Amino acid sequence: MNDLLPGEIEVWQFVESTARTLFGRFGYGEVRTPMVEDTALFVRSVGEETDIVGKEMYTFEDKGGRSLSLRPEGTAPAARAYIEHSVSNQEPVSRWFYMGPMFRYERMKTGRYRQFYQIGAEAYGAREPAQDAELMDVVVQFLEALGLTDVTLNINSLGDDNCRPAYHAKLVEYLNAHREELCADCQQRLERNPLRVLDCKNEKCQAVAAAGPNVLEFLCEPCRAHFTDLQRKLGVLGIKYVVNHRLVRGLDYYTRTVFEFIASHPALGTASTVGGGGRYDKMMKGLGGPDVPAVGFAMGLDRLVLLLKEGGKTFTQRPDLFIAVADEGSQDAGLALASRLRREGLKVDFDTRGGSLKSQMKRADKSGARFTLVLGEQERQSGQAKLKPMAGGEPIPVALDSVAATVRAQPEAPAAAPAS
Ligand code: AMP
Repeated sequence: MNDLLPGEIEVWQFVESTARTLFGRFGYGEVRTPMVEDTALFVRSVGEETDIVGKEMYTFEDKGGRSLSLRPEGTAPAARAYIEHSVSNQEPVSRWFYMGPMFRYERMKTGRYRQFYQIGAEAYGAREPAQDAELMDVVVQFLEALGLTDVTLNINSLGDDNCRPAYHAKLVEYLNAHREELCADCQQRLERNPLRVLDCKNEKCQAVAAAGPNVLEFLCEPCRAHFTDLQRKLGVLGIKYVVNHRLVRGLDYYTRTVFEFIASHPALGTASTVGGGGRYDKMMKGLGGPDVPAVGFAMGLDRLVLLLKEGGKTFTQRPDLFIAVADEGSQDAGLALASRLRREGLKVDFDTRGGSLKSQMKRADKSGARFTLVLGEQERQSGQAKLKPMAGGEPIPVALDSVAATVRAQPEAPAAAPAS
């Protein structure tokens, strides 16, 4: 679990604000659910046999004797809220997004944390492949807006209750015949959750999986048509993708479409999946809610941040102005001037400790401010001061009552308006 301090948080804020803008454009509204839920919610949706529920949840009993868990993912809580608030009675299609911390007791690895952050979106009410395609388009445009282009979309279809059992049976039969070649974990998975063998990272298991039955060959006609149409729609949107019949994802609730966005960057090591999702048409009903189809995805913020940091861009906003005071008598005036200029929208740094002008100028240098203004008795008397460009150049005369306008008028990185 990580602490995020100023200096590092800015890149997180950039990712979050980009997500808010983009999801907003697609009509996705933000939902915030509690960080704890009844344990049973995850058991019934994510599935008892998954690693998440079986091994990774932070589960505890509260003072009322109820079993609660810190949420390990966001889809089930959002579905719970959707059912609880009878949203399907109010509108036929709902588009939601969420962002926030998730908790999993994972083994320590690069890009894997026990408190990590996800941004996700869910579209409820539409069964059509256009909805799957639209959702993938959100992710594509989001990654584009972040400047992350080296990411590949993988898609697959897992079929539905009609066609999956035949595939499942064939897979189990095949894996049993190759049992000895599988790693110890996969030998267990074979008993509990055979699909998971397909995304084991062990090379031997991958070789076994590659030669195994192909889920796409087992799809019934409606599932095949859905998957074909999805690919056509991705073509319409100009979205590049790879069909990967071994893509299964680690959660139980998916039907038909599943997808993953995979980054090829050494910084991520094996943790190269930046996000993924799929269709889960049965989950709402399974949780006691209405028969509403849904499709969703979640992306790991930690990994997006790691990729952006590797890109070397800076996200910290430097101050427009540093105010230094030449004498103790000007300290109050400096404090008041800084306050007024902040109200006028400038980002202003000011040393509240006072001290020698020399030490304040050192702070000004370190702050990265564009300009420094020295305020002393003379400036206070005359109402006139000078803006010293910290990157070098001639000082700019300025009246104390028009500092904000003068700073803004200077070329190069004009001061941003305050967030409202
Ligand atoms: P999942 O909910 O397992 O499908 O994960 C969706 C995305 O969340 C993954 O692709 C990762 O980017 C991210 N993620 C999942 N688990 C972790 C973790 N323990 N630490 C950091 N990111 C994670």
